[in-house]
Amino acid sequence: MASEIKHYIGGQQVAGRSGRTSPVFNPATGEQTAQVSLASTSEVGAAVAAAHAAAESWADTPSLRRARILNKFLRICEDRIDDLAAVITSEHGKTLSDAKGEIQRGLEVVEFAVGAPQLLKGEVSENVGTRVDSYGVRQALGVVAGITPFNFPVMVPMWMFPVALACGNTFVLKPSERDPSAPLLIAEWLAEAGLPAGVFNVVHGDKEAVDALLHHPDVAAISFVGSTPIARYIYSTATSTGKRCQALGGAKNHMVVMPDADIDQAVDALMGAAYGSAGERCMAISVAVPVGEKTADALISKLEPKIRALKVGSGFNAESEMGPLVTQQHLDKVRGYVDSGVEQGAKLIVDGRDFRSNEGGYFIGGSLFDHVTPDMKIYKEEIFGPVLAVVRTPDYATAARMINDNEYGNGTAIFTQNGDVAREFAHRIRVGMVGINVPIPVPVAFHSFGGWKASLFGDHSMHGPEGVRFYTRLKTVTSRWPTSIAQGPEFVMPTMK
Ligand code: NAD
Repeated sequence: MASEIKHYIGGQQVAGRSGRTSPVFNPATGEQTAQVSLASTSEVGAAVAAAHAAAESWADTPSLRRARILNKFLRICEDRIDDLAAVITSEHGKTLSDAKGEIQRGLEVVEFAVGAPQLLKGEVSENVGTRVDSYGVRQALGVVAGITPFNFPVMVPMWMFPVALACGNTFVLKPSERDPSAPLLIAEWLAEAGLPAGVFNVVHGDKEAVDALLHHPDVAAISFVGSTPIARYIYSTATSTGKRCQALGGAKNHMVVMPDADIDQAVDALMGAAYGSAGERCMAISVAVPVGEKTADALISKLEPKIRALKVGSGFNAESEMGPLVTQQHLDKVRGYVDSGVEQGAKLIVDGRDFRSNEGGYFIGGSLFDHVTPDMKIYKEEIFGPVLAVVRTPDYATAARMINDNEYGNGTAIFTQNGDVAREFAHRIRVGMVGINVPIPVPVAFHSFGGWKASLFGDHSMHGPEGVRFYTRLKTVTSRWPTSIAQGPEFVMPTMK
């Protein structure tokens, strides 16, 4: 009987009561390792109730004290990074080194959030009228919820809860049901760091749990990261029920390689950006856009042997560069995309479907397509696997137009030695995160992460200053003290005298 992964509500693990569960697999072996409880509406209600009960006293806790708890949590995570990484690898499949990288990027947001006392400093104007002062403060929203995807089971929740908690909110996390164990460790470690019961809760589940959060009157805001169709649904539903919402969606990230680029650097950058984490990254490069035939030929000829030499294997094997995909279903989907590229006439240079593993598990090798065109399914849709499409373009303007016309706008990069072209690209491209000779331009924690177009619904990106704005609301106080108070009522629009 597979062990049960429980919820974490009100400071303790709580067994599921809905009778519904979902299997959790080790993607490197295909074995079921556990089953996760899927919360019912009433179980989500219990988590929100716990968060609601804790909200007032947490919001009233001085920000410095909140920050100290997060600081202690940071130390615990640093000390036990190996344990957390192993949990990620065993359920997600990514290599241990990649899992540690994900934790490190998440912990940088905790480091940012530890600066809460500074981040929450308001603004003051003295004497806006005679003896009248005005000040603005940012206050917590109350109970906020995070709904997160499978591909970063630690980092994406950490884009959200450290900032939310630092700002004085309480949190309900609904992680991906495919790799649900890491958030439970996080909950235990937050408690160990001194977080009061109810401030951070985890409910596992699927659509039923998500809908319960979307419709719960005590949930003030929803942060979502996942695929675009679900992001769109989350945003429209959450905002229609009066909640604040930021919903980050899928991506199709292009990397332009100009004729003057250092081609070896561009090839190395593409290898990591397209095949790292088996392409299961929202900032993965899935489209390479060489400008000019010579650039394209050089790129293909240098990429091909490297892709064939990719070391694919269990994430626990230190030699592996690429682990398995997350589930059998996802493997079938990615294989289907490779089939469709061939059917639609793209030239398959390296066929990842040929990869054979004797470990079992959901493995596929890296694939490379040349002569892909924007009307093909492998160009238009997010594959979320180790498949790189090369779209040849005659000039920079065609490359830029293609990126601007794309439905998604998460990340993009340009490799060039020409500052003028790079600047033009950074200025005009309709994408939220831009890299210049940097293939995966994920902003650091004290900047904010978010795409444009179908990659983000809502007005706020995550973490950094945008995160603080999302998780707080502004209150502006205008105060006047006695001297002039007894002048009688005024019925005209107040102006400062
Ligand atoms: P997903 O959309 O399937 O799931 C995300 C979350 O939504 C999960 O918690 C899941 O349980 C929930 N969910 C799934 N179906 C739902 C439904 N019908 N109703 C309500 N909730 C539902 O995404 P995934 O497969 O876990 O993750 C991969 C996707 O996430 C990719 O599209 C990737 O680009 C995207 N992603 C985007 C970013 C970003 O920053 N923009 C970051 C990471 C991942």
